[in-house]
Amino acid sequence: MENFTFWNPTKLIFGKGELSKLSEEISPFGRKLLVVYGGGSIKRNGLYDQVMKELQKMDAEVYELSGVDPNPRVSSVREGVNICREKEIDFILAVGGGSVIDCTKAIAGAAKFAGDAWEMVTDKVRVEEAIPFGTVLTIAATGSEMNSGAVITNWETHEKLSWGSPAVFPQFSILDPTHTYSVPRDQTIYGIVDMMSHVLEHYFHLEENTDFQDRMCESLLTTIMDTAPKLIDDLENYEHRATILYSGTMALNGILNMGYRGDWATHNIEHAVSAVYDIPHGGGLAILFPHWMKHTLHAKPERMKQLAIKVFEVDPTGKTDEEVALEGIARLRLFWNSIDAPEQLSDYGIDDSKLEDMANKAVYNGPFGRFQVLDKEDVLSIYRSAL
Ligand code: NAP
Ligand code: FE
Repeated sequence: MENFTFWNPTKLIFGKGELSKLSEEISPFGRKLLVVYGGGSIKRNGLYDQVMKELQKMDAEVYELSGVDPNPRVSSVREGVNICREKEIDFILAVGGGSVIDCTKAIAGAAKFAGDAWEMVTDKVRVEEAIPFGTVLTIAATGSEMNSGAVITNWETHEKLSWGSPAVFPQFSILDPTHTYSVPRDQTIYGIVDMMSHVLEHYFHLEENTDFQDRMCESLLTTIMDTAPKLIDDLENYEHRATILYSGTMALNGILNMGYRGDWATHNIEHAVSAVYDIPHGGGLAILFPHWMKHTLHAKPERMKQLAIKVFEVDPTGKTDEEVALEGIARLRLFWNSIDAPEQLSDYGIDDSKLEDMANKAVYNGPFGRFQVLDKEDVLSIYRSAL
């Protein structure tokens, strides 16, 4: 195991009705608020009205930034920064999914940063100060509600880049499974794929002596896989929504990966696709992850074999490590097919015309990946196999 310091200051408030704690959580920070939300789902499902009612309890002065897109744009970040500076905002409240929360993180950091928001992202400036913010999560997927990372897209340059700073952990996140009842079936599936991918990105590492961490990852994967098919057939089932919501947070809040660092190459490869084609993040991961696994199988076949046995119940008797690993990958594919996750880039109408462009974006910061370092040719090969 590597040395590590675990620090996660986000207060997690989980369960039905917990929105009633909103004003008492925000009050210590001040009363000038910016509420950030997306394209209108919270207006349609009534959450917007509930949030505003709660904010009245603290006599808040409320400003709004709406219309944050999935794959949030730096243009929304700049808009939010302007409001924060003009109105001297004390606290930002994100009501939405990973896109709204990531946009909020970038606003919170960029509002205290002397340069432009995109410069903060491209230069990976680890800002030391940010406007405090909290979240009301509406979709189970990214884990952004309890981590300090964000992914921001610049639609002018077609770039989608990760950024983060310890200063942008949410102060609190309120997770009420009933707020996720209205998430459509397809977005529910994308979220499930995203959280599974986060666990898998952790799992593929080269560190030794991580048995406990491995068992946590495996049990999270099996829990998600047991629950997902039941949930997509019964979208308003409280217990299934709760399990998936909790799983999404646990998959990427730092609990799983103490003492080792995972890979994250597939996220990078996917971000390059959504930077060009604006596809849902989880949809892209469902297409690409099994191909990344096949491509990197030989880096450490024992780990893929372990996953195949522990999670996908492959019987290793009489098989080589590679055969067991390939059977595990095939079963992951079958599972994602069984919940109607996309399988090929062509499912989104993507052909081979922009593969070079996407591969160049993926290697923007040079070769990447820890389980196996990938260069442009590797990325092209993964894209081609996923067509
Ligand atoms: P999202 O992009 O925030 O939301 C996807 C869609 O779901 C939106 O159209 C949204 O509609 C809708 N939606 C959300 N909650 C809903 C609800 N309760 N009812 C009905 N519709 C609802 O999805 P996400 O998967 O959470 O976030 C994806 C982004 O996060 C990507 O940019 C991805 O790269 C990034 N990401 C971040 C991290 C991280 O750790 N920071 C990790 C992985 C991925 P409205 O806009 O109308 O609300
Ligand atoms: Fe993700």
